[in-house]
Amino acid sequence: MKKVYIRTFGCQMNVHDSERMLGVLRREGYAPVDAPEEADLIIFNTCSIREKAEQKFYSQLGRTRRLKRDNPALKVAVAGCIAQQQGAGIREKAPYVDYVIGPQNIGRVGDAVLGTEGIFTDDNPELARSDLPAERDRSVKAWINIMYGCNNFCSYCVVPYTRGRERSRPAENILNEVKGLAADGFKEITLLGQNVNSYSGDVSFPELLSRINDIEGIERIRFVTSHPKDLGEGLVRAMRDLDKVCEHIHLPLQSGSDRVLRLMNRKYTFSEYVSKVKMLREAVPDIAITTDIIAGFPSETPDDHKATVSALQEIGFDGIFAFKYSPRPMTRAADMEGQLPDEVKSERLTEILALQDRITEARNKALQNTVQEVLVEGTSGSEPEKMTGRTRTNKIVNIAPSGSVSPGMILKIRILKANRHSLEGEVIDGA
Ligand code: SF4
Repeated sequence: MKKVYIRTFGCQMNVHDSERMLGVLRREGYAPVDAPEEADLIIFNTCSIREKAEQKFYSQLGRTRRLKRDNPALKVAVAGCIAQQQGAGIREKAPYVDYVIGPQNIGRVGDAVLGTEGIFTDDNPELARSDLPAERDRSVKAWINIMYGCNNFCSYCVVPYTRGRERSRPAENILNEVKGLAADGFKEITLLGQNVNSYSGDVSFPELLSRINDIEGIERIRFVTSHPKDLGEGLVRAMRDLDKVCEHIHLPLQSGSDRVLRLMNRKYTFSEYVSKVKMLREAVPDIAITTDIIAGFPSETPDDHKATVSALQEIGFDGIFAFKYSPRPMTRAADMEGQLPDEVKSERLTEILALQDRITEARNKALQNTVQEVLVEGTSGSEPEKMTGRTRTNKIVNIAPSGSVSPGMILKIRILKANRHSLEGEVIDGA
């Protein structure tokens, strides 16, 4: 049995791409190992969203040079967004790399390893129609791609250049995959896409959700990432009416300033965003809303920054992912005037995170003494004597030890304590 070690960087799409590369390699007689030293094949599934992710990857790649010197038969592959972005350039920097495989060509990893070397970065419209096997290392929750690529070209983002044009999978392929997962005992599925609510397969996205909602065995449906411009009444109704669709949406805002939103090419204004939030909260009162924020976008003024701070206060998100603006190759924003000094970006990011921590804590505190439905996922990483799971609003709950709790169970949990990023509770009943 040949051994493969996969190091995954970045987003859920990459995590699931790694699961599928493993699935394809399993057919070629490979089994996963946890350490690069044990592997016959090392794959770096890379992320190019920020400079830091790229630096981290290259420093880890450098370490494989020694491994390869000690084991000349070792094969090294670079996959993911940096592979697509830099292509053959990676082998110029690191000649000990054998394969370069872009996100649209993960299905060709099997062919790749049969050959001695290769660059696989061509556009691949077939990906959306191919049903690649996935080797999932969890048993309760599963990721499923429903579409690939992005047509939005936000001025700071590399994704349209690395993952290509939007392509949606046929609904039937998705439904068959979900039925297979239900038969394997999975309880929760998360539908993946750069703009999952732009799905344009042979049925609309709300209709797809409705058909998945009818599948026996699946208890919860989530989807990520949504684009505010494509959030319509149909999807809001689906979130209100479909019992398995969870009350959480991740809806990136990025900035509270209309001037900056225009420069980002986000295609909505702050007030339009607020009206979508209102529509969601009217239809689904307990809904949790999380978002992404970029601090220090080129030419962002103190007033623009203030607009983002007041946006957080006005909306009251359940949580945010916030980062300093990072200029990326091929993106329009990288060439924009008014690139801000790093200390200004850091200062603004610190203020945003400190404010949001207070908001998140307050929203979690409001859940104390309530009863929440929790899907148990496994043992808590921080407190091994406890089990952990998530509410339908996607909040982490650590459950006081109780002999009969196991992964896959859906339980009624009384929330005893709220922390900044998690809740603590006790079992009061089976769901
Ligand atoms: S919507 Fe914008 S930020 Fe999201 S993947 Fe597409 S280009 Fe990137």
